[in-house]
Amino acid sequence: MSNPYDLVVRAESVFVDGEWRAAAVAVRDGVVAAIAEYDEEIPAHQVATLPEGQVLVPGIVDTHVHVNEPGRTEWEGFDTGTRAAAAGGVTTIVDMPLNSIPPTTTVEALELKRAAAAPQARVDVGFWGGAIPSSLGALEPLWNEGVFGFKCFLSPSGVDEFPHLDTEQLNAALAEIAGFGGLLIVHAEDPDVLDAASSASHGGPGYLDFVASRPDLSEEDAIAHVIAGVRATGARAHILHLSSARALDALRAAKAEGLPLTAETCPHYLSFSAEHIPDGATQYKCCPPIRDEANRDLLWEGLLDGTIDLIASDHSPSTAELKFAGSGDFAEAWGGISGLQLSFPAVWTAARERGIPLERVLGWMAVNTAALVGLGTKGAIAVGGDADLVAFAPEETFVVSAEELEHKNKVSAYDGSTLHGVVHTTWLAGEVVHVVGDRPGAPERVPSGRLLTRPGAGPEARSTE
Ligand SMILES: [Zn+2]
Repeated sequence: MSNPYDLVVRAESVFVDGEWRAAAVAVRDGVVAAIAEYDEEIPAHQVATLPEGQVLVPGIVDTHVHVNEPGRTEWEGFDTGTRAAAAGGVTTIVDMPLNSIPPTTTVEALELKRAAAAPQARVDVGFWGGAIPSSLGALEPLWNEGVFGFKCFLSPSGVDEFPHLDTEQLNAALAEIAGFGGLLIVHAEDPDVLDAASSASHGGPGYLDFVASRPDLSEEDAIAHVIAGVRATGARAHILHLSSARALDALRAAKAEGLPLTAETCPHYLSFSAEHIPDGATQYKCCPPIRDEANRDLLWEGLLDGTIDLIASDHSPSTAELKFAGSGDFAEAWGGISGLQLSFPAVWTAARERGIPLERVLGWMAVNTAALVGLGTKGAIAVGGDADLVAFAPEETFVVSAEELEHKNKVSAYDGSTLHGVVHTTWLAGEVVHVVGDRPGAPERVPSGRLLTRPGAGPEARSTE
């Protein structure tokens, strides 16, 4: 008899090769070593058999998370952020280059991020770099150090240390990135359109006034600039947090043309609509904003037809003080929605209501997000892949209590919502990193998350050429 495996997880329903089947997933050294028949005898040190109602799915890969440590750790940090991820079935996060201080725009800043994350990470953590005016011309060293790509803003980011690129700088960034085969990820709102719209509005607590201050046209114009730049340079680009469905036709056409362009949207754009957001409820403020119900329907269509490739949380918390600064004035409050822990059940809840099966959700939140960052060992349960597994009960419900979330700041647009889909157990590389009901006071687990480097990065990447 061969050596026992470290772990075997049996379930009546396992998502493997794009379909559901009864199986036993055998893990050795953190990797899926075999996928056997459900009732096959397999020697293992540990065996978990999922009860009826729980399915086994790959860990969610969330490519859009603002951890904010170091520098704004009171907004979110690697300890609380990765606890929240594990509790939400998210086994990989890729951290945004802002709003930490310093932002991840230099190799030194990346080292600081890694040093902060390494001892605390409870899930695997990768990093995006930043493209700001002062880092243009110097992006490649960061790429060689293993960031997965570069984020830029086309309008003010909200923090002074991360200035936006104008159109000329956007094109320069794309040309530079094309030169080394990198990826530019873009916050696409046009500053001229925003300026014109906000001079016509004076802030205040009206949600529809806030939406009017960030009109669809700002996304349409900015995305048109990105498409033109991609066409001119051949660089790969990705549109972050698409909110306006009016930009879908341009994206569809760009993809049909064969341009290397992808797009994401976020759980909050798929869960909420402007009609249902009360005035003064700044926990719903994000940029670009949550738009109306008809727009939300079209975003779902865009996902279903593949125009939108993936869903990422854009977890962008702040302190409650900043989130409610101005006591309901949308112009004053911090713009960002905290959603890492709830993104998977929130999207599943909204999909389920529309009759969309769980496997499509996994496609958008695990398979395609892993593909965006080239993590071939993540996003699917497959032999040779990382044993990042989630026992998920799709038909169980829970009521969100912001106070009980692992996020550092207990503010949630989902507070009080009933969601479908309970994450019962999360395994990272075959180790349990979360069990439902875990609460402060439960035996502490040692953080076992690893720092991820872009496949292909490293000394070889630097020395070849
Ligand atoms: Zn973001």
